[in-house]
Amino acid sequence: MFHVKHRSPHILLINPWITDFAAYNFWIRPHGLLSIASFLRDSGFRITFIDCLDSTVTRKRYGDGKFHKIEIEKPLPIKSVPRKYSQYGIPEELFREKLSDMEKPDLIGITSGMTYWYPGLFKAIKIIKELFGKIPILLGGIYATLCNESAVRYSEADYIIKGRGEPELVKIISELLGFELPMDNGTLKIDNFPYPAFDLYPQLDYVSMITSLGCQFHCSYCASSVISGGFQRRDPLKVVEEIEYWTGHYRVNNIAFYDDALLVNPLEHIIAILKEVKKRDIQCNFHVPNGLHIKEIGEELSDLLHRCHFKTLRLGLETSNEATQIETGGKVDNRSFEEAVKNLKRAGYSEKEIGVYVMAGLPGQRAGEVEESIAYVKEMGANPKLVEYSPIPQTPLFEKAKKMSKFDIENEPLFHNNSILPCQWEGFTLADFQRLKEKVKT
Ligand code: SF4
Repeated sequence: MFHVKHRSPHILLINPWITDFAAYNFWIRPHGLLSIASFLRDSGFRITFIDCLDSTVTRKRYGDGKFHKIEIEKPLPIKSVPRKYSQYGIPEELFREKLSDMEKPDLIGITSGMTYWYPGLFKAIKIIKELFGKIPILLGGIYATLCNESAVRYSEADYIIKGRGEPELVKIISELLGFELPMDNGTLKIDNFPYPAFDLYPQLDYVSMITSLGCQFHCSYCASSVISGGFQRRDPLKVVEEIEYWTGHYRVNNIAFYDDALLVNPLEHIIAILKEVKKRDIQCNFHVPNGLHIKEIGEELSDLLHRCHFKTLRLGLETSNEATQIETGGKVDNRSFEEAVKNLKRAGYSEKEIGVYVMAGLPGQRAGEVEESIAYVKEMGANPKLVEYSPIPQTPLFEKAKKMSKFDIENEPLFHNNSILPCQWEGFTLADFQRLKEKVKT
C-alpha cells in the first residue's frame, strides 16, 4: 500500500485504435494493461480505462467478430497500396466524449500493439494532449518495445517504457505522484500477478488468459523473448482457479489463451490444467488463436483438448519445407505434424477444425514453397490458414528481411505491415499471394 498524502490519484489507462488494411477481433484484450490496472487499483489508485477496440459490431458464435471501422486516409509511405485503410474500434467522437466526461487524470498510461499500428496510437495521444494539456503520458507495449527509437522521437508520449515495464512504471509513478508503490522480485513472478481487471468492461462475454510468459524456442522470425523477457509458467491450479473465477463470477463462456508456449512440457502444465478443468466440471469454450507447438500434441492431450471444448485450434506449422523448418529454429517437423493431426482426428476434430498456420513471404522464400505447404496440409487432412510474414525488429530474421525488402523496413514501421508483403520479390509477388489465397479456399 502507498502512503496517501492527500487523495488517491486518478490514472487513466488506454488501449488505442488499430489502423490497418484489415483487422479482426480474435478475442483481443490488452492483457498486460489490464494486469497493470489491477495492480494499481489494488495499491489504492483510482483507475479509468478506455479500450478503443471495445466495439465489435458483428459477433460470431464464440464471441469473436468484426470491429467497428471507419475508412481513413492512408499514411504517406503506404499511399500507393491499392487497398482501403481503416481505423478499427470506437468512433473518435465517443473517445473524445469519454475523455471530456471524466475527472481530469493525474497520469495517463497507454499501450501499443503491432509496430505498424502506430498511427492509431499517435492519434489517441494527440487527442489526449489536446484535451488534457500537460498531464504526463506513459507509453508501453509492443511498438514501444520493438521500435523504441521511433516511439521516443515521434509518439509525443512523455515516458517510453520498454519490455516488461512494471519496475520502470512503478518508479515513474512513484516519482511523479509522490507515492511509494510495492515492487520487489516477487511482484514480477507470474503467479503473483493479479487477475487482469476485465471487470472494467461494461459487458464481459469473453476474456483472454495467459498461463505462461515467453517461450523456450527461438524462432528466427519471432520476438517472444524480446517482449516477454524469459520464460515463466503459472501453477496449473492457479490457472484453473482463474478460469473458475471468470466462468463462475462473470458467466464468461469463451476464453482465449494467448500464451506463446501453452503446450510446452504438457504433462506438468496443460494436461494438469485440463484434467482439473474436467474434474471441476467447468463449462466453457476455449480458443487458441496463437499457434500451438505441434510436437506436444499427443493422444492424451488431443483427447483432453476435445473433451474440454477447445473450439478454435491453430497449429504452428508455418512451412512443410524441412530445410526452412530447421533454418528458422526447428520448432516443428513433418512427422510430428502428421502425428498431431492423426491424434486430433482420433479425438474427434474434423478437418475444418484443425487450423494450421502456413507462413507466406519469408525473406527469400519462393511462392512454390508455400504452395507445397498448403497442398501438404490439405493432403494430411487439415485446414491451412495463410499468414503473411511481418518483419519484426530485434529478431534474427529482421536483418535478412532488411536486405531483401524493397521497403525501408528499418526506418518506417508502416512497412512491417504483412498486408503489403514486405519481402515480396520476383520469386514471390503480390499476384502469387493472391493465387495462393485462392488455393487455400479451394
Ligand atoms: S515456438 Fe512460437 S512463440 Fe516460440 S519462438 Fe517460435 S514462433 Fe515464437
